[in-house]
Amino acid sequence: MADRDGVIWLDGQMLPWREAKVHVLTHTLHYGMGAFEGVRAYHTDQGAAIFRLADHTRRLCRSAHILNMKLPYDATTINDACRAVVRENGLEAGYMRPMCFYGAEGMGLRADNLQVHLMIAAWPWGTYLGDDSMEQGIKVRTSSYTRHHVNITLCKAKANGNYMNSMLALQEALASGCDEALLLDNEGYVAEGSGENVFLVRDGKIYTPELTSALEGITRDTILRLAADLDIPVIEKRITRDEVYIADEAFFTGTAAEVTPIRELDGRVIGSGKRGPVTERLQTLYFDLVHGRSDKYADWLDYVNNQ
Ligand code: PMP
Repeated sequence: MADRDGVIWLDGQMLPWREAKVHVLTHTLHYGMGAFEGVRAYHTDQGAAIFRLADHTRRLCRSAHILNMKLPYDATTINDACRAVVRENGLEAGYMRPMCFYGAEGMGLRADNLQVHLMIAAWPWGTYLGDDSMEQGIKVRTSSYTRHHVNITLCKAKANGNYMNSMLALQEALASGCDEALLLDNEGYVAEGSGENVFLVRDGKIYTPELTSALEGITRDTILRLAADLDIPVIEKRITRDEVYIADEAFFTGTAAEVTPIRELDGRVIGSGKRGPVTERLQTLYFDLVHGRSDKYADWLDYVNNQ
């Protein structure tokens, strides 16, 4: 990953990929306090377009605010830099990773006198959970790891350190032959996947957990809007794992995972055991939207060549 052609934006400069380096005493490497985003650019007939860039940048700024990190760049600068990174890497489509982190100016937990740095990289990235997953769905396992408690690591921030929990859960799921983990909150209710929000469909209605310990997913928000356009009722409520077992359909949403059907949880087949009709409609609308094939929500696409 570190050895490839291309450019990375670091602290206001576009650097050759191999030269975008940090010191081993980088503070965030030691204690995990930092914030990042995962953003996708899609191929459209007007070239690459970044999906909901302004919303991702807003969440990055809010994550930094929650962590009390003073971002030295405003949203306009970050948005311009994201477009430039996609453009200058010649990407037709891809994944973007903006991240703010503390530098190597000092050590210790006080984190005073540290500089906040910002990097933005972009590279091609296909389907996150495998090419078959979009139609066949994935196998999921309820995690033995509890999702972060709101008062421990602050779940509204997409914070680097939060992903230790995600990785432990995902590794456990993969080791047991599943594709992804479903994490429960500290009271035992369904929270989210290791990097996705979760939805159920039952008797024509859509259910999703309230955003207590789950990240405020931008794909989740997109799906809520698309469901409203289709007049499908959406209920945000506490959900138990056995409600997932008896759902007609279930799916994950995320920038990386997009809209991925869940075919099995803990060995129980969900519904027909493959992508259900509501999931398929929403997934199709989602892909039409991100690829610029739909007039609605056109302002969610940032065409990188139009600047
Ligand atoms: N939850 C977690 C823990 C995530 O990491 C992500 C991915 N950012 C999501 C949910 C989905 O968020 P989004 O749709 O904004 O990518």
